[in-house]
Amino acid sequence: MSEETPKPDATPEVKPAEAKPAAPPPPPPVTYPRSAGVTMAAAPKASLSRFLGDAFGLFKGMNVTMRYFRKPSRIVTREYPENRGTLKMSERFRGQVVMPHDEKNEHTCTACTLCEKACPNGSISILTTKNLASKRVLGAFVYRLSSCTLCNLCIEACPFDAIRMGHGFEMATFTRDPLDLILNKTEGR
Ligand code: SF4
Ligand code: SF4
Repeated sequence: MSEETPKPDATPEVKPAEAKPAAPPPPPPVTYPRSAGVTMAAAPKASLSRFLGDAFGLFKGMNVTMRYFRKPSRIVTREYPENRGTLKMSERFRGQVVMPHDEKNEHTCTACTLCEKACPNGSISILTTKNLASKRVLGAFVYRLSSCTLCNLCIEACPFDAIRMGHGFEMATFTRDPLDLILNKTEGR
């Protein structure tokens, strides 16, 4: 009995080399300035006009500075917070909603709730009660300064001028609770 001679291992098949990706196209020629598309030949002209524009801007700024230097009464910049004690905000400034009271500590709010309905984000809650004559009057005007956007809509809605925008500032607190305010000092009559 003759043994079969084992066949030698087959030679591994050689794959052809993979084709390399095509080289990227060369970058476009450099221009100056790039955004303006000006070529190098036109660069001196572009830089001159840029220099003149910058010089004009500098002159404009210096002119404003000199104008205030000659007339300091026209300066509107405030030295805050050094002037905190004497600082007066402009009439249009909106610091927070307030409820004015007269010398008898009375207000003109009738608890009609128009301001509450006008407020777009629920920053006002009108809590009512009844007076001795069983008439519905204001119990508490709850105002949440933390969510108020100072849009002025509630003040425009009030038919009795019972609320207005105050000029308070530096209202920041560490928690929201101190910003929930009761605006009326007394209940309605
Ligand atoms: S100022 Fe605007 S956001 Fe603030 S309470 Fe009035 S209506 Fe609401
Ligand atoms: S503040 Fe004015 S709008 Fe609001 S409940 Fe009082 S009276 Fe009505």
